[in-house]
Amino acid sequence: MKIRNPRTGEHDYTLVTDTVDQVMAKAGTLRAAHSQWLSKTLQERIEIIVQLADRMEAHKEAFIEQLSIDTGRRNISELEFHAAIGVIRGRCASAPYVLQAPKSRSSMTNPTVNIHQQWVPYDLVGVISPWNFPLLLCLIDAIPALIAGSTVLLKPSEVTPRFMDVLEQCIQEVPGLSEVTALVRGGAEVGKSVVDQVDVICFTGSVKTGQMIAKRTAELFKPAFLELGGKDPAIVMEDADLDVAIAAIMRSGFGAAGQACQSLERVYVHRTIYDDFIHKLTDKANAVTTNHDYSQGGNLGPLIFEGQRATIESQLADATAKGAQIKSGGTIENHHGGLWLRPTIVTEVNHDMEIMTEETFGPVIGVMPYDSTAEAISLANDSIYGLSASVFSQDTESAVAVAQQIDAGGISINDGSLTNQVFDAEKNSFGMSGLYGSRMGADGLLRFFRKKAILIQTAAPASLDTQAEKAQS
Ligand code: NAD
Repeated sequence: MKIRNPRTGEHDYTLVTDTVDQVMAKAGTLRAAHSQWLSKTLQERIEIIVQLADRMEAHKEAFIEQLSIDTGRRNISELEFHAAIGVIRGRCASAPYVLQAPKSRSSMTNPTVNIHQQWVPYDLVGVISPWNFPLLLCLIDAIPALIAGSTVLLKPSEVTPRFMDVLEQCIQEVPGLSEVTALVRGGAEVGKSVVDQVDVICFTGSVKTGQMIAKRTAELFKPAFLELGGKDPAIVMEDADLDVAIAAIMRSGFGAAGQACQSLERVYVHRTIYDDFIHKLTDKANAVTTNHDYSQGGNLGPLIFEGQRATIESQLADATAKGAQIKSGGTIENHHGGLWLRPTIVTEVNHDMEIMTEETFGPVIGVMPYDSTAEAISLANDSIYGLSASVFSQDTESAVAVAQQIDAGGISINDGSLTNQVFDAEKNSFGMSGLYGSRMGADGLLRFFRKKAILIQTAAPASLDTQAEKAQS
């Protein structure tokens, strides 16, 4: 596969993809190594996994260089690298507390029976990840799966594959890890074959692909943990500190050029502060510079995936045709072959426009005024998604009361996308933003276990007769 460079538009990298047979062979090798991995204690597994962080730190510059080419952004690649290291070290540190073996106990419904509860990790976990944070989003599920005692088959996105060689090298450098962790390269066909080979799948990506995987895993009777798209709302209440709200919305909506699942993409502002809000937000948005010339030090990276252009342009065209106004940005710029969109604020919007209902996955925010809190909540909940949301108010109690009525997995108060910084809060997505056990909190580790009960009868077992007597009485 020829891979496009997002800063130049050139197809300057060749990805040698795995065949279906190669995926099957790698899955077979991992399965064969599972019993040995499981025979290690939790502490032994952790000691091996932590070495991956050590090896990655030794190759930090190579990671950042490759991620910078993959995504066209330098600062965020460095942040992403550190976040990935944080996932490895953080999960390894917390696992011994989360994975306390369940205690044996007698049954509450039948006290003569002792229950020995066992957690049995899946043999082989598949991880399929997207292009927006290529390294972080493939390790975020793989690390807890390995800690739990599973082996892992990873298929990162074919859009941003350059970092994979460095990751593979680091895995090879850790004795004991390469037998239980393998990478495969390719697009949808390789992804499908991963789904077919593994016992459980962790998928991060679009709703459309998530639906295909959900159908296939239903046929195969295997679980799929799906982390999908969003159209995250923010509610800016009448008493909000506008500087706080605008700083957070700018970072959440435009950082990573909006190419993050939990980016704020729609904002509802109390009508009494709406004009002031728009004025200040537009000023800030106009001051953001693109990074198309690194020597000029701009912050905003390019569109990583070329296909995103059509989505953004079609949503903007739909909105303006229906009366929306573009206050900043709005035109995709081509600099030496790469595509950049400046922070785009759209007003005079409503929920008949795709820009307020469909995921954009770009640096675009629609802003609408509201009159009552009930109206703001209703607008925030008028969505097929439910990933995360924000509420801004100087009265935390009122903000929490609003947050409790929003149908989303993680709601930040007086900030945006806090689920991006806090990994130990439990959450599940609502609507089409996700399905089944989330990667957040203890669940992120516990979901890799099947629960098994060993039931020991300590009295005489019920006979056919006593059972019949009991039924009659
Ligand atoms: P995508 O669905 O196009 O691709 C994701 C991955 O799935 C890629 O590795 C791709 O090769 C693979 N794939 C494609 N078709 C497949 C198939 N039929 N079977 C198996 N695998 C297949 O998504 P994308 O464009 O790479 O990523 C952007 C999307 O990801 C956005 O919707 C974004 O919101 C979402 N996302 C969600 C989260 C989250 O945690 N909820 C995080 C980041 C991104």
